[in-house]
Amino acid sequence: MINIKNSPIEKISFQNKSFLIKRDDLLHKDFSGNKARKFFYFLEKDFPKVTTLVSHGSNQSNAMYSLSVLCKLKNWDFIYYVNHVPSYLEDNPQGNYKYALENDMKLMTVDDFSKKDLDLDETTLFIEEGGALEEASYGLNILADEIVEYKQNNNIKNLKIFLPSGTGTTSLFLQKFLNTEVMTCACVGDENYLKKQFLELEENENKHPTILERKKKYHFGKLYKENYLLWKELKFHTKVEFDLLYDPVGWDTLLYNYDDRYTYLYIHQGGLIGNESMLQRYIHKYQL
Ligand SMILES: *Cc1c(COP(=O)(O)O)cnc(C)c1O
Repeated sequence: MINIKNSPIEKISFQNKSFLIKRDDLLHKDFSGNKARKFFYFLEKDFPKVTTLVSHGSNQSNAMYSLSVLCKLKNWDFIYYVNHVPSYLEDNPQGNYKYALENDMKLMTVDDFSKKDLDLDETTLFIEEGGALEEASYGLNILADEIVEYKQNNNIKNLKIFLPSGTGTTSLFLQKFLNTEVMTCACVGDENYLKKQFLELEENENKHPTILERKKKYHFGKLYKENYLLWKELKFHTKVEFDLLYDPVGWDTLLYNYDDRYTYLYIHQGGLIGNESMLQRYIHKYQL
């Protein structure tokens, strides 16, 4: 069993503002970030009848890679459905796609994935795209406890938590387990999409994270030169590598909304293996 508890919290300063960073990217070399937190339940619990895990989503997803690690540790077969693999990627495997295949992921291509078409029985565990599931609360509760402990031990007043959202599962569960305000921004879809995601997991809007306004609208997965430049500036000044997909939008939003009356804890949600393919795309597009 691998131990993924208690990632460090570090102080950094960036653009003359100070932040605390919860380094969940350092949880474990193979199993890290918010996907490790979300899937921790499956790592810890026993599933005597399960032999196979099935999931679906994009061909470069961070969740896909983390599930491939989980399956290796659990000795489960891993079947993953995508709707498309570009021939370029097939010929030049990289990033999450490459390392998930190296962990023996079985990739299936279908035009229109539907859970109903699967032949699921008690030997098969099905995990929704991106890990938007109730069981995620188990590992996120542990993350919340670590934050509470740090806050108490260091006597931090006016704390605010910030993390960028995809499905919103991580930020929503964190808010459920914390009295401290959790702030987030939409990276996949817009603010309305994120609000809907929250409502699916929690009816009571008072228990939802605060959705901060983004400085500008971004389309998920699209490349923006200013995002790359912000990522690079962060890496240079803080010596911390953030993810290239969610974190530039997150940092841009947090800097835009920064209020020096508060102490901000930014949650680093991992995803660094995905940077390999994101960087290639940036280099290719902008001739960097
Ligand atoms: C998956 C992921 C997110 C989004 O998490 P949600 O729980 O879907 O909101 C954010 N950052 C990174 C690095 C991720 O891998």
